[in-house]
Amino acid sequence: MRTFEQCPRQYRWRYIDRLPSRKRSAEAVVGLTVHKVLERLYAGIIRGDELTLVQAYSDYDDAWEAMWGDDVIIRGGMGPADYREQGRGFLRDYYQSHYPFNDDRTVAVEHHIAFKLDSGRITMRGYIDRLAFIGEKHVVIHDYKTSRVLPDQSVIDADRQLSLYQLGIEKRWPWVDRVDLVWHFLAHGRTLRSRRSSEQLRAIEGEVLALVGRIEAAAKADDHPLTEGTHCRWCDYASICH
Ligand code: SF4
Repeated sequence: MRTFEQCPRQYRWRYIDRLPSRKRSAEAVVGLTVHKVLERLYAGIIRGDELTLVQAYSDYDDAWEAMWGDDVIIRGGMGPADYREQGRGFLRDYYQSHYPFNDDRTVAVEHHIAFKLDSGRITMRGYIDRLAFIGEKHVVIHDYKTSRVLPDQSVIDADRQLSLYQLGIEKRWPWVDRVDLVWHFLAHGRTLRSRRSSEQLRAIEGEVLALVGRIEAAAKADDHPLTEGTHCRWCDYASICH
């Protein structure tokens, strides 16, 4: 949905025409690799089989080798070794500051969530990086970011993605009495938190339904205008667009 808001043409090429994406960026490889190791780390904790930092490094190296290739796009002054070391640093800092990982009780990683809106007409889907409980009725939704940009709290308070995850959790488990939304900005070693009221969730649901309506109308009219902006820098289709 965010893609449509930024540029309907990019949305069309990606989700309707399904044009192949270009090669991956180095930043994306860092993000994917770190996510993979954090997933393994917490999956181990759920099983009672915690990874040591040395094992986490080893997993990181394996995942890096599997994901890195000559086709990865590098921008700026950093080389492959710098990116690799950057990801290792994110992992080390996170591991050392969160060990022994018992602030809450992790119950799932890369957790698929699907729920219905608009009386079942629309299905929303997503993946929660880590889902945890504190006690029996308090849920914590964790999201990991490797971006170098640390957003303002106001951006976090307005974030739609984790709000939708909360909506999905509350539809699935109506007995939950509190949901915390938590973002880990690994490049900064900072954790940002937010919460949503029932009124805010209803408002977000309304915004999403309105946006889905716009997406459907655009598809019906085959109307997907180009919308240029700073987001073009990261667009998979810049080479065929300009
Ligand atoms: S390069 Fe920019 S204007 Fe062109 S499709 Fe991508 S986001 Fe849209």
